[in-house]
Amino acid sequence: MSYIEPHAHMVSRTTDDYEKLAIAGCEAICEPAFWAGFDRSSAEGFHDYFRQLTEYEPKRAEKFGIKHFCWLCINPKEADDPGFAREVMALIPDFIDRPTVLGIGEIGLNKNTRNELGIFEEHVQLALDHDLPILIHTPHLEDKLKGTRLMLDSLANFPNLDRGRVIIDHVEEHTVGMVLDAGYWAGMTLYPHSKCSLDRAIDILETHGTERLWMNSACDWGVSDPLAVPKCLQRMKARGHGPETIRNVARDNPAAFLGQSPRFLL
Ligand SMILES: [Zn+2]
Repeated sequence: MSYIEPHAHMVSRTTDDYEKLAIAGCEAICEPAFWAGFDRSSAEGFHDYFRQLTEYEPKRAEKFGIKHFCWLCINPKEADDPGFAREVMALIPDFIDRPTVLGIGEIGLNKNTRNELGIFEEHVQLALDHDLPILIHTPHLEDKLKGTRLMLDSLANFPNLDRGRVIIDHVEEHTVGMVLDAGYWAGMTLYPHSKCSLDRAIDILETHGTERLWMNSACDWGVSDPLAVPKCLQRMKARGHGPETIRNVARDNPAAFLGQSPRFLL
């Protein structure tokens, strides 16, 4: 089945994973800039990372017939030092016009600190200045609800923000409603242990409908499964969902959101 993987950290995966994704029907992968599993020691580390995202990963994906796109930012885990964060953000304009860059992300909060929130807002302004979509990370576990509320309040202070061009990712049962009700897109991250299991994600779809929702595997350096999306689509079928609903989630929804960037060409 043809599908789009809208949030995957391929820099942490092997070439074999690309092959598995291709065999499973993956047409395109979008990779938000994030933590690399360790803190970088200087802003220069991000210069290399942005080159990896915009130059090397698209070539690696292309060998398997997969399109690779990316999002740029300094991730919330390394954004608690505003001086350092701004040094990294100063690099972004050099990369922002590259042909596979879709927008600013994944920005957001990690520990819900004041510094993180300040850098989050500077990123939102950067996206507005360049007329780009935004991809937002929400914190995990007990901080998720508080962090999601903090960011929704903060975003409400940007009157020119088009909410249909913002996706708030890693939603769970207790945050999906407030995100969709406010007019944003929502993403569900399928993880083997934390975040959403396959069945929980399908429960959410059955409760809230498929409009403005996507699912992704994240597939980062931690315990994660690059095939979580096709496995979930298979599980949807087993739970009685028809081909149209499955296609909505697998392809049409991510294509509709990502297609707001003129660079997202399949
Ligand atoms: Zn991520």
